[in-house]
Amino acid sequence: MGRSNYFDQVLIPLKKAAVKIKADKTFLEIISQPQRIIELNLPFVYDSGKKDFIKGYRVQYNNWLGPFKGGLRFHPKVDMDEVKSLAFWMMIKNALIGVPFGGGKGGLQIDPKKFSEKELERLTRQFTKALSPNIGEDVDVPAPDVNTNSKIMDWIEDEYSKLLGKRSKAVVTGKSLANGGSKGREEATGLGGFFVLEKLIEKLGLKKPLTVAIQGFGNVGSNMARILYGNGYLIVVLSDIKGAIYDPQKIGFNVDLVKQCKEEKGFLAGCYCIGSVCDLARKVDDGILTNEELLESPVDILIPAALENVITEHNAGKISAKIVFEMANGPTTPKADEILNKRGIMVVPDVLANAGGVTVSYFEWLQNRTQERWTIQKVRSKLKENMTKAFENVWDISQKKKVNLRIASYIAAIDRLQRNQPGF
Ligand code: NAD
Repeated sequence: MGRSNYFDQVLIPLKKAAVKIKADKTFLEIISQPQRIIELNLPFVYDSGKKDFIKGYRVQYNNWLGPFKGGLRFHPKVDMDEVKSLAFWMMIKNALIGVPFGGGKGGLQIDPKKFSEKELERLTRQFTKALSPNIGEDVDVPAPDVNTNSKIMDWIEDEYSKLLGKRSKAVVTGKSLANGGSKGREEATGLGGFFVLEKLIEKLGLKKPLTVAIQGFGNVGSNMARILYGNGYLIVVLSDIKGAIYDPQKIGFNVDLVKQCKEEKGFLAGCYCIGSVCDLARKVDDGILTNEELLESPVDILIPAALENVITEHNAGKISAKIVFEMANGPTTPKADEILNKRGIMVVPDVLANAGGVTVSYFEWLQNRTQERWTIQKVRSKLKENMTKAFENVWDISQKKKVNLRIASYIAAIDRLQRNQPGF
């Protein structure tokens, strides 16, 4: 899909849901565009002395429910269309999951792997400075996303607090534990997804063991894999940017060992760990898949957990999973979504499946504001409560209105946004 009409495509489920519940036309027009967009050209000097300009973005999509909230992505493909789409999904997600936040998203158009640590810190601080008039605990609260982590969030908090002249921990979430982060934030997106998946298989009457393929082995993919592995699922396909590993015998990978192996090697390929051993000598073409083959592999559950637009009209007809569980944002194009629906494949949408991250971000924000420190047990049980409640609501809507889970999720979000629309 060309980038030019990308955002129009992103709005399709919103429009379908609005028609289904006869939502007000002006309301729909208002939430079909962001409230504010920030585009930056940051002058930057590399360690070598080379000078350049770096593109930065922040889209503040909607704040009717609370401060704008959403991650920062550092990736060479970050552009305005992508950030706008991600910010829109955050509005829908936050409305659906019931946290007091609006939607936002941002990013830098860089490949962070090509930056030294010093350069990355300098650039992050510069980005923070440029955004500082427009962010804040009650205004806009960023968080981690692709290629950003707690260290980067700590730099943002530090720089912003320096500019403000007092500590402002709640200006950003996903910080390190030592710097006011919440217990359980790292695992939150994966764990939240697990709670939803468990409810879903109960509703569908599916019995474990179920086989799973996961695309992406970063924060979201690796935590989801680890949790599913610990709860009786068979993880038979795993991948990262360099390729995938496949267990054709369907015994299931030992995800803890795979993770350890990836940490040592830097990539997944060859981390063929089953039971208590890793067969690192296994031939490259034996049990290794491309990312395309991964999506089509014969499993019960397919979990995209990397980037958007990986399931398209070209491969949707070849997907053989019973459930597509969207842990990445926007992995399925609208055309692919239609094909999957027609083929009877259950799609659990991103805005529901991966809402655990922002839910625990909310817990972190709350703890920072009240000077509390929650135990991991409290974080997990409140996360379970929130995710289960949101899933049950979406499931009920889908049954009552006879719509799929994506449209049901959008109906739930529209309902909350409509009730909180400010008078003007
Ligand atoms: P991350 O940077 O930690 O990991 C991304 C992973 O994707 C890496 O393993 C990378 O190797 C892999 N990858 C990148 N390009 C790929 C490709 N072309 N094919 C296969 N794998 C590829 O990022 P993350 O935080 O895990 O985010 C992953 C997805 O989940 C994104 O869509 C993000 O927006 C979404 N998400 C993240 C959070 C969160 O809390 N981090 C919350 C909600 C949604």
